[in-house]
Amino acid sequence: GHPDLAAFGTTIFATMTQLALEKDAVNLGQGFPDTDGPGEVLDAAVEAIRSGRNQYPPGPGVPELRRAVAAHQERFYGLRPDPDTEVLVTVGATEAIATAMLALVRPGDEVVTFEPYYDSYAATIALAGGVRRTSLLRFPDFGVDEASLRAAFSDRTRVVLLNTPHNPTGKVFTREELELVAELAREHDAWVVTDEVYEHLAFDGRRHVPLATLPGMAERTLAISSGGKTFSTTGWKVGWMTGPAEVVAAARALKQFLTFVGSGPFQPAIAAGLGLPDAVFHGLADSLAAKRDRLVAGLRAAGFQVPVPEGGYFVLADAAPLGVADATPFCLELPETAGVVGVPASAFHDDPDAGRTLVRFAFCKRDEVLDEGIRRLGTLR
Ligand code: PMP
Ligand code: GLN
Repeated sequence: GHPDLAAFGTTIFATMTQLALEKDAVNLGQGFPDTDGPGEVLDAAVEAIRSGRNQYPPGPGVPELRRAVAAHQERFYGLRPDPDTEVLVTVGATEAIATAMLALVRPGDEVVTFEPYYDSYAATIALAGGVRRTSLLRFPDFGVDEASLRAAFSDRTRVVLLNTPHNPTGKVFTREELELVAELAREHDAWVVTDEVYEHLAFDGRRHVPLATLPGMAERTLAISSGGKTFSTTGWKVGWMTGPAEVVAAARALKQFLTFVGSGPFQPAIAAGLGLPDAVFHGLADSLAAKRDRLVAGLRAAGFQVPVPEGGYFVLADAAPLGVADATPFCLELPETAGVVGVPASAFHDDPDAGRTLVRFAFCKRDEVLDEGIRRLGTLR
C-alpha cells in the first residue's frame, strides 16, 4: 500500500524558518551557515557557469567530482572507492538517503536507526514501505544503549541507518559504539547506510570514523555525504554516495527517474573544494567549535541545561529548568516571546515523551547573530 505521507506534513525546518522570517526572529532553527565557504569553491562555480557547463551533467555525476570524492575518501580514511562504479553523485545527501532506502528496503523490511533522527529518515523509510525500529540516545550523554540496540534488530532487519556526527544531539559515535553496530549488522546480514554529512565537524581532537573502515564493513556499507556542510553551500545540493557497485548501480537506476541529474555547475566546484588542503577542513571545525562554545555558554547563562556537542552544527538544550514542560508550544511561541527560533526535539523522536523538554539550537551562525540570540534568550527568566 501507499504510505500516508500526509502524516509528514511540512518539514519542521521549513515551518520554523518561515516563523523566523515572519517574526524577524534570530533563526537558530534550520541548520545552514550564514557566511560563505572557501573562495576557491565559489570561484569554481562561477567559472563553471561562465565556461558554459550549464546543461545536464552525466547521470552518475561529472567525472572530476566522482574522482574527487574517491580521492577524498582515500586521503582522509584510506578507502578507495572506484569512481566509475562505486560513486554516485546525488542532489544533496537527502536524495542519496532516499535512493538508498528505495534501493535496499523491500516492503515489510525493518530499518534500525537511532532516535532522535534526522527527519527525512522516517519519511523515506515509509516511502520504501519499510518499518522503522529505533534505539534511543538518551539526553544528556547520548550513549548507545546496547540492550535497546540489540532489541531493535530482528530477523527482518534489512538496513541500519547511522548518522555520525549526529544531528540533532551533537554526538560523535566512538569506535567501540561503531564496532557494536557493525557486529549487529554482520550478525543480521544487514546493510549499513551511513549519513556522514558532518564528517569534517568533529571537535576537540575527535576523529570521525567512517563505519566502512571497520573490518569487513566496506562490503556492506553505503556511505553518504554532501558538500553542503563542508563548504557552507547547503543550497547547492551536491551530495554523493560511495559503496559496493551493486547498490550504487541500483541507486543510480532509481535516480534516473527521481531527478535524472542535478546541480550541474556546482559539481565541479565541489570537486575543487574536496581537493583543498587539510587546513581548510580543520579550520572549519575549529571555527565551529568556537561557535559551539559561545552558544553553549550563552544558553547556560540563560538557564538551559546544555551538554557540550562533540560535533556537527547543533546543540540540544533542556528547557525544563526554565519551567518548560513541553518544548513544542515553547518553540512555537519563542519567536514572539523572545524573538528566537529553535526546533523542538520532538520533531526528531518517535516517542513523544523522549526529548519532551529539549530544544535544538544551531550554532553555525555569525558570532553577532549568536550573541543577539543569546541576549534575547536571556530575557526569558
Ligand atoms: N543528513 C543530515 C543528518 C542532515 O543534517 C542533513 C541536512 N543538513 C542532511 C542529511 C541533508 O543534506 P543535504 O542538504 O546535502 O541534502
Ligand atoms: N539539515 C538541516 C537541519 O537539520 C536543514 C535541512 C532542511 O531544512 N531540510 O536543520
